[in-house]
Amino acid sequence: MTSTDDPAGMNVRSGSFFLAIAVGRCAHCGRQTAVVAIGLPAGYEQLEEGDWRTAPEPTLLFDIDALSADVGRVLRDCFPLFHPGGDAQSGARRWRNHCESCGDPQDDYWLHCEPAAPFLPLTPQAASRIDLVAIDAALLASACGFSAGVPFLDAMRRDG
Ligand SMILES: [Zn+2]
Repeated sequence: MTSTDDPAGMNVRSGSFFLAIAVGRCAHCGRQTAVVAIGLPAGYEQLEEGDWRTAPEPTLLFDIDALSADVGRVLRDCFPLFHPGGDAQSGARRWRNHCESCGDPQDDYWLHCEPAAPFLPLTPQAASRIDLVAIDAALLASACGFSAGVPFLDAMRRDG
């Protein structure tokens, strides 16, 4: 299940979302490649122990197992390098960025979790190299990774 309108199994929902676009370095070929993350504004909801709870802070999502079909269509149109891809080790088919040069899937850990990773900037200057694109559409997702708070979100560039 990687793209569906079935709410079963989904654990995140929001009335709108945004795309954060950064530049990373491919773990396979070493070339620079554009990478995207899905962000949610404060007030998105997360399913915890059967209850939908409102989150007070914005977040970036990662380790995404499934996205609602219309969100999947937005990604296909705006950023086709982000699509479900297999993990050779676990066999999981999560949504991943793929290198624009060699096509290799990029691990979310190296994009989101290491200090100074493309989506974990340590300074406002680094954050200012991330572009934000607001998408006025509802989102339903199944995700394991949340970078709650999104440090330096205000320093990122807003498109329009
Ligand atoms: Zn590559």
